[in-house]
Amino acid sequence: MSIPETQWAQVAESVGAPLQFKQIPVPKPGPDQILVKIRYSGVCHTDLHAWKGHWPLPVKFPLVGGHEGAGVVVAKGSLVTGFDIGDHAGLKWINSSCSECEHCRQADEPLCPNAQMSGYTVDGTFQQYAVGKATLASKIPKNVPLDAVAPVLCAGITVYKGLKESGVRPGETVAIVGAGGGLGSLAQQYAKAMGIRVVAVDGGDEKRAMCESLGTETYVDFTKSKDLVADVKATTPEGLGAHAVILLAVSEKPFQQAAEYVRSHGTIVAIGLPPDAFLKAPVFNTVVRMITIKGSYVGNKQDGVEAIDFFARGLIKAPFQIAPLKDLPKIFDLMEEGKIAGRYVLEIPE
Ligand code: NAD
Ligand code: ZN
Repeated sequence: MSIPETQWAQVAESVGAPLQFKQIPVPKPGPDQILVKIRYSGVCHTDLHAWKGHWPLPVKFPLVGGHEGAGVVVAKGSLVTGFDIGDHAGLKWINSSCSECEHCRQADEPLCPNAQMSGYTVDGTFQQYAVGKATLASKIPKNVPLDAVAPVLCAGITVYKGLKESGVRPGETVAIVGAGGGLGSLAQQYAKAMGIRVVAVDGGDEKRAMCESLGTETYVDFTKSKDLVADVKATTPEGLGAHAVILLAVSEKPFQQAAEYVRSHGTIVAIGLPPDAFLKAPVFNTVVRMITIKGSYVGNKQDGVEAIDFFARGLIKAPFQIAPLKDLPKIFDLMEEGKIAGRYVLEIPE
Protein backbone atom coordinates (compact mmCIF):
# COMPACT_ATOMS: atom_id res chain seq x y z
CA MET A 1 0.00 0.00 0.00
CA SER A 2 1.56 3.31 -1.00
CA ILE A 3 1.44 5.99 1.65
CA PRO A 4 1.92 9.62 0.56
CA GLU A 5 4.30 12.05 2.32
CA THR A 6 1.63 14.75 2.68
CA GLN A 7 -2.14 14.74 3.21
CA TRP A 8 -5.23 16.94 3.65
CA ALA A 9 -6.18 17.99 7.18
CA GLN A 10 -8.29 20.55 9.04
CA VAL A 11 -5.85 22.50 11.21
CA ALA A 12 -6.40 25.13 13.93
CA GLU A 13 -3.25 27.18 14.57
CA SER A 14 -4.40 28.52 17.94
CA VAL A 15 -7.46 28.69 20.23
CA GLY A 16 -10.52 29.55 18.13
CA ALA A 17 -8.43 30.49 15.06
CA PRO A 18 -10.20 29.88 11.72
CA LEU A 19 -9.71 26.28 10.59
CA GLN A 20 -7.36 25.81 7.66
CA PHE A 21 -8.01 22.99 5.21
CA LYS A 22 -4.46 22.35 4.10
CA GLN A 23 -1.69 19.87 3.36
CA ILE A 24 0.45 18.60 6.26
CA PRO A 25 2.92 15.71 6.61
CA VAL A 26 1.58 12.16 7.06
CA PRO A 27 2.63 10.91 10.54
CA LYS A 28 4.82 7.81 10.85
CA PRO A 29 3.69 5.11 13.32
CA GLY A 30 5.91 4.55 16.38
CA PRO A 31 6.83 0.98 17.41
CA ASP A 32 3.53 0.44 19.31
CA GLN A 33 1.28 2.40 16.92
CA ILE A 34 -0.87 1.77 13.87
CA LEU A 35 -1.29 4.23 11.01
CA VAL A 36 -4.95 4.36 10.00
CA LYS A 37 -6.16 5.70 6.68
CA ILE A 38 -9.25 7.44 8.02
CA ARG A 39 -12.37 6.97 5.87
CA TYR A 40 -14.92 8.62 8.17
CA SER A 41 -14.73 10.70 11.35
CA GLY A 42 -17.64 11.76 13.52
CA VAL A 43 -17.73 15.35 14.81
CA CYS A 44 -18.21 15.40 18.59
CA HIS A 45 -19.04 18.48 20.65
CA THR A 46 -15.74 17.80 22.44
CA ASP A 47 -13.95 18.81 19.20
CA LEU A 48 -15.68 22.18 19.43
CA HIS A 49 -14.77 22.57 23.13
CA ALA A 50 -11.11 21.73 22.25
CA TRP A 51 -10.87 24.22 19.41
CA LYS A 52 -12.48 26.96 21.54
CA GLY A 53 -10.29 26.15 24.56
CA HIS A 54 -13.31 25.69 26.85
CA TRP A 55 -11.75 23.37 29.42
CA PRO A 56 -9.10 23.74 32.15
CA LEU A 57 -6.81 21.25 30.36
CA PRO A 58 -4.22 22.48 27.85
CA VAL A 59 -4.80 21.70 24.16
CA LYS A 60 -2.00 21.09 21.64
CA PHE A 61 -1.70 23.72 18.88
CA PRO A 62 -1.52 23.62 15.93
CA LEU A 63 -4.32 21.08 16.36
CA VAL A 64 -5.90 18.49 14.11
CA GLY A 65 -9.10 17.60 15.98
CA GLY A 66 -11.28 14.49 15.76
CA HIS A 67 -11.57 11.31 17.83
CA GLU A 68 -14.24 9.19 16.15
CA GLY A 69 -12.08 7.96 13.28
CA ALA A 70 -12.88 4.77 11.39
CA GLY A 71 -10.64 3.47 8.64
CA VAL A 72 -8.11 0.95 7.39
CA VAL A 73 -4.72 0.03 8.89
CA VAL A 74 -2.06 0.92 6.30
CA ALA A 75 1.14 0.66 8.40
CA LYS A 76 2.16 -0.53 11.85
CA GLY A 77 5.09 -0.39 14.24
CA SER A 78 7.39 -3.35 14.92
CA LEU A 79 5.76 -4.16 18.30
CA VAL A 80 2.16 -4.30 17.03
CA THR A 81 0.63 -7.78 17.10
CA GLY A 82 -3.12 -7.05 17.32
CA PHE A 83 -3.63 -5.59 13.84
CA ASP A 84 -2.66 -6.58 10.31
CA ILE A 85 -2.39 -4.28 7.32
CA GLY A 86 -5.86 -4.01 5.76
CA ASP A 87 -7.75 -4.52 9.02
CA HIS A 88 -10.50 -2.04 9.86
CA ALA A 89 -9.74 0.02 12.96
CA GLY A 90 -11.17 2.85 15.04
CA LEU A 91 -9.13 5.61 16.67
CA LYS A 92 -10.75 6.96 19.82
CA TRP A 93 -10.38 9.77 22.39
CA ILE A 94 -7.85 7.83 24.47
CA ASN A 95 -5.00 7.59 21.96
CA SER A 96 -2.48 6.13 24.40
CA SER A 97 -1.99 5.49 28.11
CA CYS A 98 1.05 4.45 30.14
CA SER A 99 -0.08 0.84 30.93
CA GLU A 100 1.90 1.08 34.20
CA CYS A 101 -0.06 3.25 36.67
CA GLU A 102 -2.69 1.96 39.10
CA HIS A 103 -5.54 3.17 36.86
CA CYS A 104 -4.10 1.41 33.81
CA ARG A 105 -3.43 -1.71 35.86
CA GLN A 106 -7.13 -1.75 36.79
CA ALA A 107 -8.29 -1.20 33.18
CA ASP A 108 -9.30 2.39 33.91
CA GLU A 109 -7.04 3.71 31.17
CA PRO A 110 -9.11 6.90 30.61
CA LEU A 111 -8.03 7.94 34.13
CA CYS A 112 -4.29 7.46 33.40
CA PRO A 113 -2.53 10.73 34.30
CA ASN A 114 -0.27 10.26 31.27
CA ALA A 115 -3.02 9.43 28.77
CA GLN A 116 -2.87 11.20 25.42
CA MET A 117 -6.13 12.29 23.80
CA SER A 118 -6.79 12.20 20.03
CA GLY A 119 -7.62 15.64 18.68
CA TYR A 120 -6.60 17.28 21.96
CA THR A 121 -3.07 16.47 23.17
CA VAL A 122 -2.11 14.64 19.95
CA ASP A 123 -3.45 15.12 16.42
CA GLY A 124 -6.73 13.37 15.74
CA THR A 125 -8.88 12.11 12.90
CA PHE A 126 -9.78 15.22 10.88
CA GLN A 127 -6.99 14.21 8.49
CA GLN A 128 -6.43 11.46 5.94
CA TYR A 129 -3.93 9.47 8.02
CA ALA A 130 -3.76 9.31 11.84
CA VAL A 131 -1.78 7.27 14.38
CA GLY A 132 -2.79 5.66 17.67
CA LYS A 133 -1.45 3.09 20.12
CA ALA A 134 -2.52 -0.27 18.74
CA THR A 135 -3.61 -1.74 22.07
CA LEU A 136 -6.11 1.13 22.56
CA ALA A 137 -7.45 1.20 18.99
CA SER A 138 -10.75 -0.56 18.28
CA LYS A 139 -11.13 -3.54 16.00
CA ILE A 140 -14.02 -3.06 13.60
CA PRO A 141 -15.44 -6.15 11.89
CA LYS A 142 -15.20 -5.96 8.08
CA ASN A 143 -18.99 -6.21 7.63
CA VAL A 144 -19.64 -3.11 9.75
CA PRO A 145 -20.12 0.13 7.74
CA LEU A 146 -17.34 2.59 8.61
CA ASP A 147 -19.55 5.70 8.30
CA ALA A 148 -22.28 4.56 10.72
CA VAL A 149 -19.86 3.08 13.25
CA ALA A 150 -17.69 6.22 13.50
CA PRO A 151 -19.96 7.97 16.07
CA VAL A 152 -19.99 4.83 18.19
CA LEU A 153 -16.22 5.27 18.78
CA CYS A 154 -16.79 8.17 21.19
CA ALA A 155 -20.50 8.95 21.52
CA GLY A 156 -21.67 5.32 21.58
CA ILE A 157 -19.05 3.99 23.97
CA THR A 158 -19.47 6.99 26.29
CA VAL A 159 -23.25 6.70 26.65
CA TYR A 160 -23.13 2.91 26.94
CA LYS A 161 -20.62 3.28 29.77
CA GLY A 162 -22.73 6.05 31.34
CA LEU A 163 -25.83 3.85 31.32
CA LYS A 164 -23.86 1.07 33.03
CA GLU A 165 -22.46 3.53 35.58
CA SER A 166 -26.00 4.72 36.38
CA GLY A 167 -26.99 1.25 37.57
CA VAL A 168 -30.35 1.61 35.77
CA ARG A 169 -31.95 -1.78 35.20
CA PRO A 170 -34.17 -3.21 32.45
CA GLY A 171 -37.72 -1.91 32.82
CA GLU A 172 -36.63 1.21 34.68
CA THR A 173 -36.71 4.73 33.26
CA VAL A 174 -33.78 6.94 32.31
CA ALA A 175 -34.05 10.65 31.54
CA ILE A 176 -31.62 11.50 28.74
CA VAL A 177 -30.91 15.22 28.77
CA GLY A 178 -29.53 16.46 25.46
CA ALA A 179 -31.23 13.48 23.78
CA GLY A 180 -31.36 15.14 20.37
CA GLY A 181 -27.59 15.51 20.00
CA GLY A 182 -24.88 13.07 18.96
CA LEU A 183 -24.44 11.36 22.32
CA GLY A 184 -28.16 11.61 23.07
CA SER A 185 -29.33 9.87 19.91
CA LEU A 186 -26.99 6.95 20.59
CA ALA A 187 -27.94 6.91 24.29
CA GLN A 188 -31.58 6.34 23.32
CA GLN A 189 -30.60 3.38 21.15
CA TYR A 190 -28.33 1.79 23.76
CA ALA A 191 -31.00 2.28 26.44
CA LYS A 192 -33.61 0.64 24.22
CA ALA A 193 -31.28 -2.28 23.43
CA MET A 194 -30.67 -2.70 27.19
CA GLY A 195 -34.41 -2.79 27.93
CA ILE A 196 -34.46 0.62 29.61
CA ARG A 197 -37.32 3.09 29.09
CA VAL A 198 -36.44 6.62 27.93
CA VAL A 199 -37.67 10.12 28.65
CA ALA A 200 -35.89 12.34 26.12
CA VAL A 201 -35.20 15.98 27.03
CA ASP A 202 -34.03 18.45 24.37
CA GLY A 203 -35.34 21.43 22.41
CA GLY A 204 -37.27 21.89 19.16
CA ASP A 205 -39.51 19.88 16.88
CA GLU A 206 -36.76 18.46 14.66
CA LYS A 207 -35.18 16.80 17.69
CA ARG A 208 -38.60 15.70 18.91
CA ALA A 209 -39.23 13.93 15.59
CA MET A 210 -35.81 12.28 15.72
CA CYS A 211 -36.28 11.11 19.32
CA GLU A 212 -39.70 9.68 18.49
CA SER A 213 -38.24 7.85 15.51
CA LEU A 214 -35.65 6.32 17.83
CA GLY A 215 -38.41 4.84 19.96
CA THR A 216 -38.39 7.19 22.94
CA GLU A 217 -41.70 7.08 24.80
CA THR A 218 -41.84 10.73 25.78
CA TYR A 219 -40.09 13.94 24.78
CA VAL A 220 -39.93 16.98 27.04
CA ASP A 221 -39.01 20.19 25.20
CA PHE A 222 -36.86 22.33 27.51
CA THR A 223 -37.45 25.39 25.31
CA LYS A 224 -41.25 25.13 25.73
CA SER A 225 -41.89 23.43 29.06
CA LYS A 226 -43.18 25.78 31.78
CA ASP A 227 -42.20 23.33 34.53
CA LEU A 228 -39.56 20.91 33.33
CA VAL A 229 -39.24 19.10 36.65
CA ALA A 230 -42.98 18.38 36.80
CA ASP A 231 -43.10 17.42 33.12
CA VAL A 232 -40.27 14.88 33.44
CA LYS A 233 -41.67 13.40 36.64
CA ALA A 234 -45.15 13.12 35.13
CA THR A 235 -43.80 10.76 32.46
CA THR A 236 -42.21 8.33 34.95
CA PRO A 237 -43.92 5.39 36.68
CA GLU A 238 -46.07 6.62 39.60
CA GLY A 239 -44.72 10.13 38.95
CA LEU A 240 -41.80 9.36 41.26
CA GLY A 241 -39.07 10.54 38.91
CA ALA A 242 -36.49 8.92 36.65
CA HIS A 243 -34.45 6.01 38.03
CA ALA A 244 -31.41 7.58 36.41
CA VAL A 245 -30.55 10.82 34.65
CA ILE A 246 -27.87 10.94 31.96
CA LEU A 247 -26.72 14.55 31.51
CA LEU A 248 -25.39 15.19 27.99
CA ALA A 249 -26.38 18.82 27.59
CA VAL A 250 -23.87 21.55 26.82
CA SER A 251 -25.34 24.09 29.23
CA GLU A 252 -25.19 24.26 33.03
CA LYS A 253 -28.85 24.57 34.00
CA PRO A 254 -29.84 20.91 33.61
CA PHE A 255 -26.89 19.93 35.82
CA GLN A 256 -28.52 21.89 38.65
CA GLN A 257 -32.04 20.68 37.89
CA ALA A 258 -31.56 16.92 37.67
CA ALA A 259 -31.61 16.38 41.44
CA GLU A 260 -35.22 17.59 41.45
CA TYR A 261 -36.60 14.96 39.06
CA VAL A 262 -34.35 11.99 39.74
CA ARG A 263 -36.18 9.29 41.70
CA SER A 264 -35.28 8.69 45.34
CA HIS A 265 -32.34 6.25 45.44
CA GLY A 266 -31.68 7.20 41.81
CA THR A 267 -28.44 8.19 40.11
CA ILE A 268 -27.43 11.26 38.15
CA VAL A 269 -24.57 10.70 35.71
CA ALA A 270 -22.82 13.81 34.39
CA ILE A 271 -21.25 13.27 30.95
CA GLY A 272 -21.67 16.58 29.12
CA LEU A 273 -18.91 19.10 29.77
CA PRO A 274 -20.29 22.66 29.55
CA PRO A 275 -17.52 25.20 30.20
CA ASP A 276 -17.13 26.63 33.73
CA ALA A 277 -20.15 24.68 34.99
CA PHE A 278 -20.87 23.32 38.46
CA LEU A 279 -23.00 20.50 39.75
CA LYS A 280 -25.16 21.71 42.61
CA ALA A 281 -27.73 19.86 44.68
CA PRO A 282 -29.42 20.50 48.02
CA VAL A 283 -27.70 18.49 50.75
CA PHE A 284 -30.98 17.78 52.57
CA ASN A 285 -32.76 16.19 49.61
CA THR A 286 -29.64 14.39 48.43
CA VAL A 287 -29.37 12.76 51.85
CA VAL A 288 -32.98 11.97 52.67
CA ARG A 289 -33.76 10.86 49.10
CA MET A 290 -30.46 8.93 48.86
CA ILE A 291 -29.43 10.44 45.51
CA THR A 292 -26.13 9.48 43.85
CA ILE A 293 -24.38 12.07 41.68
CA LYS A 294 -21.37 10.95 39.65
CA GLY A 295 -19.31 11.61 36.53
CA SER A 296 -18.61 9.22 33.67
CA TYR A 297 -15.77 9.60 31.18
CA VAL A 298 -15.63 7.70 27.87
CA GLY A 299 -15.10 3.96 28.48
CA ASN A 300 -12.30 1.42 28.80
CA LYS A 301 -11.22 -1.12 26.20
CA GLN A 302 -13.89 -3.65 27.18
CA ASP A 303 -16.66 -1.00 27.12
CA GLY A 304 -15.45 -0.26 23.58
CA VAL A 305 -15.62 -3.91 22.55
CA GLU A 306 -19.14 -4.27 24.00
CA ALA A 307 -20.46 -1.02 22.49
CA ILE A 308 -19.16 -1.95 19.02
CA ASP A 309 -20.61 -5.44 19.45
CA PHE A 310 -24.10 -4.00 20.14
CA PHE A 311 -23.70 -2.03 16.91
CA ALA A 312 -22.38 -4.99 14.91
CA ARG A 313 -25.41 -7.03 15.99
CA GLY A 314 -27.69 -4.42 14.40
CA LEU A 315 -29.15 -3.12 17.67
CA ILE A 316 -27.96 0.48 17.33
CA LYS A 317 -29.28 2.69 14.52
CA ALA A 318 -28.77 6.38 15.14
CA PRO A 319 -29.24 9.02 12.46
CA PHE A 320 -26.18 10.71 10.97
CA GLN A 321 -25.48 13.03 8.06
CA ILE A 322 -22.39 12.80 5.89
CA ALA A 323 -20.38 15.86 4.86
CA PRO A 324 -16.94 16.28 3.24
CA LEU A 325 -13.93 17.03 5.49
CA LYS A 326 -13.69 20.53 4.02
CA ASP A 327 -17.11 21.40 5.52
CA LEU A 328 -15.98 21.06 9.15
CA PRO A 329 -16.22 24.84 9.88
CA LYS A 330 -19.89 24.84 8.79
CA ILE A 331 -20.60 21.86 11.03
CA PHE A 332 -19.01 23.61 14.03
CA ASP A 333 -21.25 26.64 13.34
CA LEU A 334 -24.39 24.45 13.31
CA MET A 335 -23.23 22.64 16.45
CA GLU A 336 -22.65 25.89 18.32
CA GLU A 337 -26.20 26.97 17.45
CA GLY A 338 -27.55 23.62 18.73
CA LYS A 339 -28.98 22.88 15.28
CA ILE A 340 -27.66 19.36 14.71
CA ALA A 341 -30.12 16.51 15.31
CA GLY A 342 -27.94 13.40 15.74
CA ARG A 343 -24.37 13.37 14.42
CA TYR A 344 -22.39 14.70 11.47
CA VAL A 345 -19.87 12.27 10.03
CA LEU A 346 -17.08 13.63 7.84
CA GLU A 347 -16.13 11.72 4.72
CA ILE A 348 -12.35 11.89 4.44
CA PRO A 349 -11.02 12.24 0.87
CA GLU A 350 -9.27 9.10 -0.48
P1 NAD B 1 -24.34 17.85 20.70
O1 NAD B 1 -24.13 19.29 20.42
O2 NAD B 1 -24.51 16.91 19.55
O3 NAD B 1 -25.63 17.64 21.66
C1 NAD B 1 -25.87 18.43 22.78
C2 NAD B 1 -27.39 18.50 22.93
O4 NAD B 1 -27.70 19.15 24.17
C3 NAD B 1 -28.05 19.34 21.83
O5 NAD B 1 -29.03 18.56 21.15
C4 NAD B 1 -28.67 20.51 22.58
O6 NAD B 1 -29.89 20.96 22.01
C5 NAD B 1 -28.88 19.88 23.95
N1 NAD B 1 -29.10 20.84 25.03
C6 NAD B 1 -28.52 22.04 25.24
N2 NAD B 1 -29.02 22.64 26.35
C7 NAD B 1 -29.96 21.79 26.85
C8 NAD B 1 -30.85 21.83 27.96
N3 NAD B 1 -30.86 22.88 28.79
N4 NAD B 1 -31.66 20.77 28.17
C9 NAD B 1 -31.66 19.71 27.33
N5 NAD B 1 -30.85 19.62 26.24
C10 NAD B 1 -30.01 20.65 26.02
O7 NAD B 1 -23.11 17.38 21.62
P2 NAD B 1 -22.52 15.89 21.83
O8 NAD B 1 -21.48 15.64 20.82
O9 NAD B 1 -23.63 14.95 21.99
O10 NAD B 1 -21.74 16.09 23.23
C11 NAD B 1 -22.46 16.43 24.40
C12 NAD B 1 -21.51 16.77 25.53
O11 NAD B 1 -20.86 15.57 25.99
C13 NAD B 1 -20.39 17.74 25.18
O12 NAD B 1 -20.17 18.63 26.26
C14 NAD B 1 -19.20 16.82 25.00
O13 NAD B 1 -17.95 17.46 25.19
C15 NAD B 1 -19.47 15.83 26.09
N6 NAD B 1 -18.77 14.53 25.97
C16 NAD B 1 -18.36 13.95 27.12
C17 NAD B 1 -17.75 12.71 27.07
C18 NAD B 1 -17.33 12.04 28.33
O14 NAD B 1 -16.58 11.08 28.27
N7 NAD B 1 -17.79 12.46 29.49
C19 NAD B 1 -17.53 12.07 25.84
C20 NAD B 1 -17.99 12.71 24.69
C21 NAD B 1 -18.62 13.94 24.75
ZN1 ZN C 1 -16.27 12.73 21.71
